[in-house]
Amino acid sequence: MTTGTLFIVATPLGNLEDITLRALRILSSVSIIAAEDTRTAQHLLSAHGLWPLAQGKTLVSYFQGNEAKRTQTLLASLQEGQDIALISEAGLPGISDPGHRLIKAAIDAHLPTQVIPGPCAAVTALVGSGLRTDAFLFLGFPPRQTQERYALFASVASETATLIFYESPLRIHQTLLELSEGLGPDRMACVARELTKMYEEYKRGTLAELAAHYGKVAARGEITLLLSGAKKEQSPMLLIEEEIHRRLELGETPKDISLALALRYGKPKRQIYQLAFTLDQNKQNKHRL
Ligand code: SAM
Repeated sequence: MTTGTLFIVATPLGNLEDITLRALRILSSVSIIAAEDTRTAQHLLSAHGLWPLAQGKTLVSYFQGNEAKRTQTLLASLQEGQDIALISEAGLPGISDPGHRLIKAAIDAHLPTQVIPGPCAAVTALVGSGLRTDAFLFLGFPPRQTQERYALFASVASETATLIFYESPLRIHQTLLELSEGLGPDRMACVARELTKMYEEYKRGTLAELAAHYGKVAARGEITLLLSGAKKEQSPMLLIEEEIHRRLELGETPKDISLALALRYGKPKRQIYQLAFTLDQNKQNKHRL
């Protein structure tokens, strides 16, 4: 018996015209559409004259809450010869959206898979940001836990590729503040908002400028945040040193600095304290001369 194919179909980020002819053909031909959000899917299908579905075709939900169980059912349908189109709420399934589990299961079961390419917020924002595009690192949503956030930011502080995050409008201000503290206020960044929609906006500036802006103006809508990579010569210890110099200038003591930076950079407090103490001594000696 011939098995079915799993089609992983990219859908619009906002503008309903952003769907390929091939995607529409696949959506109209498969037996099952597995959608992260069935209401968004109906809206998209209606806009392209594909709703209600033809007889014998079904729309089922495939979201974080039922992913594990539904993967098995969908796998069985593929094995029985039914073609499936997997779509998420927006953009590419599997990119900060459900999909990976089913795709991996289909690959492991040697079932055919095909990606129907199209919109993805990360890549769209990258290209529009004006930041370096030849090397980039996509990191999805930053963790919510302070310690995990600091650990992640510290681990990419000396990364030279452009960094891409997804972030909620409720947390963008805090994230910009933390990144400005951790990676330096002068790092260039871009907040790409509401891409492909009526209020699309690219706000470019240093981390400090963007943090100040979103401290005054509440961010709205969907946001992709991009940061230029570290300059080539910046090693993690150099970054820490720069941060210590900045804080000493602001009058912080080596003890305050070690408490603030140890967690952020995942280094022992004593190591940071010793470095801050030495730099402070050097600074004072210089003033004495
Ligand atoms: N699968 C999607 C993709 O391929 O881009 C991403 C899904 S993820 C759950 C949703 C996040 O993507 C949003 O919170 C936002 O960070 C980003 N995003 C989605 N649409 C966007 C848009 N129109 N403009 C800017 N960022 C967007």
